[in-house]
Amino acid sequence: MRVGIVGAGQLGRMLAQAGSRLGMQFNFLDPSHEACAAEFGKLICTTYGDAEGLFQLAEQSDFITFEFENVPPRAVERLAMQTPTQPGALALATARDRWAEKTLFQQLDIPVAEVRKVDSQEELAAVVAKLGLPLICKTRTLGYDGKGQKRLLQESDLANTFSELGEVPLIAERMVNFSQEVSIIAVRNHEGEVRCYPLAINEHRRGILHSSTPAPEHPLNSMAQSYIMATMDALHYVGVMAFEFFAVDDQLLANEIAPRVHNSGHWSIEGSECSQFENHLRALCDLPLGSTLSREPSCLLNLIGARPDYQALLAIPGVHLHDYGKQARPGRKIGHITLTASNSALLNERRHQVEELLVNDLGDL
Ligand code: AMP
Repeated sequence: MRVGIVGAGQLGRMLAQAGSRLGMQFNFLDPSHEACAAEFGKLICTTYGDAEGLFQLAEQSDFITFEFENVPPRAVERLAMQTPTQPGALALATARDRWAEKTLFQQLDIPVAEVRKVDSQEELAAVVAKLGLPLICKTRTLGYDGKGQKRLLQESDLANTFSELGEVPLIAERMVNFSQEVSIIAVRNHEGEVRCYPLAINEHRRGILHSSTPAPEHPLNSMAQSYIMATMDALHYVGVMAFEFFAVDDQLLANEIAPRVHNSGHWSIEGSECSQFENHLRALCDLPLGSTLSREPSCLLNLIGARPDYQALLAIPGVHLHDYGKQARPGRKIGHITLTASNSALLNERRHQVEELLVNDLGDL
């Protein structure tokens, strides 16, 4: 089977690593010559909207998928006409636009923080007058790792927000005083069968994911499962999806979905019977879904901006190191560690040892 992936970063790389064990071959389309998945397949180096490049990708592949949701919707439609492509145009168009996402959640009765769309500085002033402060403004598209956002804590923060965020369509939402950030990852196949990984507790530092810890006993698992299943059904979704929430007391408020494999599920490579990467490919290529049960307690820790001492790191039992082969730059994800242990107490002990060694450089926002 030949799989074409739009995007050739670390997600494409880990998809290819999982798929090559199943005998799959990979083609990538990515604008960067240095894309880190390229060594695992053939790279078509061009922009995401390039018609000729997309045609080549579709011609050389039996199935197409994405590691990156910000693909022009026309490009998705063009690919899908030529070669089976998942997730589909509706899912991608919804997930790439924060307003479309929030609208869908509300239609599905999934609670969200109160939110408005904002298309000008004047509209923002009107929204602030209505909702009050604090608010958080986010660009509707292309934001990631806390980029494309501004927090409005007091009246004086309001000035120039629209121009500072690039004069593009925005949403403004109430700041949530959450107790935890959590996410759930699920996979859905062509028949509508869904399997969920356990809810993961996520810790961000300066808007970038620092750690993710699966919590199979978390009381909000079944609520998160019902929300992601409803969303996947509404989008006729095939493949892996991630859904991020704010936990407030015993409720979940929906933040956003990612129509792809997700950083908060990387622990599944060693922590689960079948990883999110393999399950995404199984769903795409119409193979039976794998078990999402956990093998043993695990967690993910990201390597950001700088490499720690690998000699010391690899001396700690239960460390599974994934280096993406990328040049280190402040704020850039260059690898991750899955940490495993036979019980939670031991996992925590090992985690402290690993955290001591991390030298993450988060850069400036
Ligand atoms: P996002 O890109 O929407 O995932 O936002 C990045 C990070 O900003 C989140 O992981 C939260 O830590 C924080 N954040 C986003 N939206 C809100 C909100 N409405 N209230 C409080 N914190 C937020």
